[in-house]
Amino acid sequence: MNRTHDPELKSWVESANDLATDFPIQNLPFGIFKRKNSNESPRGGVAIGDQILDLASVGLQTGPNLNRLAAAGLPAWSSLRAVLSKGLSDEKQKKRFSKFLLPQKRAELFLPVAIGDYSDFYTGIYHAQNAGRLFRPDNPLLPNYHWVPIGYHGRASSVVISGTPVARPMGQTKGPDAPAPSFGPSKRLDFELELGFVIGPGNPLGKPVPIARALDHVFGVTLFNDWSARDIQAWEYQPLGPFLGKSFASTLSPWIVTLEALEPFRCAAFARSGDQPAPLPYLTEESDQKNGNYDIQLEVHLRTRKMPRPHRLSRSNFRYSYWTPAQIVTHQASNGCNLQPGDLLGSGTISGPTPDALGALLEMTQGGKNPVSLPNGETRAFLEDGDEVILRGRCERAGYRAIGFGAAAGLVKSAP
Ligand code: MN
Repeated sequence: MNRTHDPELKSWVESANDLATDFPIQNLPFGIFKRKNSNESPRGGVAIGDQILDLASVGLQTGPNLNRLAAAGLPAWSSLRAVLSKGLSDEKQKKRFSKFLLPQKRAELFLPVAIGDYSDFYTGIYHAQNAGRLFRPDNPLLPNYHWVPIGYHGRASSVVISGTPVARPMGQTKGPDAPAPSFGPSKRLDFELELGFVIGPGNPLGKPVPIARALDHVFGVTLFNDWSARDIQAWEYQPLGPFLGKSFASTLSPWIVTLEALEPFRCAAFARSGDQPAPLPYLTEESDQKNGNYDIQLEVHLRTRKMPRPHRLSRSNFRYSYWTPAQIVTHQASNGCNLQPGDLLGSGTISGPTPDALGALLEMTQGGKNPVSLPNGETRAFLEDGDEVILRGRCERAGYRAIGFGAAAGLVKSAP
């Protein structure tokens, strides 16, 4: 850790010193923005309090996405962070920098990277157990789960920025007693509480990433809602896995929180019990086991047409991930598959071990059987049109300044 993590460090941007902000000077996440209702070109910025600082203030012309910055690698990100930290804390630089500030409420935000490829993992073991029990009561957790960081390739084209409405997908479904499937709007629309890992420098085709170097390939972390149509998913997923039940939309939060900002919030890898085997050597590294996971509180909030004030449905934590970020990066590249700057790796739904820490309605309602009650008397088995799902994330640890992720929000619209 370095001077940028100093909890005493304050910014001349007053709102950044508010203890409740997600974006104090210790965070400095990167995104792409432009002035709302303008014909400006989208460009790189850094969130500070309730403002955005244009990266042009430090002479950086990113273009419409952060892929070049992602490709530049850790030394470049780290020196940029040091310059921004200095500039936003030093009163003497206030005059020079303030003309590059824009209030966040006057900004339009865009996907921070052009995502070439997107895969989604399944690293939440409590989610895997809960969901597995519903899809396969006799065989919830398949034996490969403990050995392989399970994943599938998703569609990058339908990853959307927070705030983009999500249309209820049409699809093929079949009730357990129906003689044949039918085609229509999904009746079991759900969210998934996940993190998204944005790849920085890639690896050449044919050259795997050793686990000791895996985090050098991660530019940063976002919130990620992998919307899921459970009825489409249940009918289509065997034998090749998720397909149209997932690829209609996935919502990404706008701010990429760097691993350097997350450094104070590292924690040990998931503690495996006696009947859970140790990972294979290519997925094992001492410091990764000791320090390779992240303590990130994750929350799901729901707003409905009749309940304008968001209600918290759940609070989980990324430390329940069975695999570390380094393990999923190393595994994905272990066959020689090349990762590229801007690629997105979803963590999978991160549920905790308790009923108040579940990351999907599927689990909260036991497959829709026991609807969730909302404070205004409404109930939800699955999402209804007009519902808005808001994911949030925050890191808190004694002795350090808390940082947050902003939000990944999406409003469900009726089927087309
Ligand atoms: Mn998922």
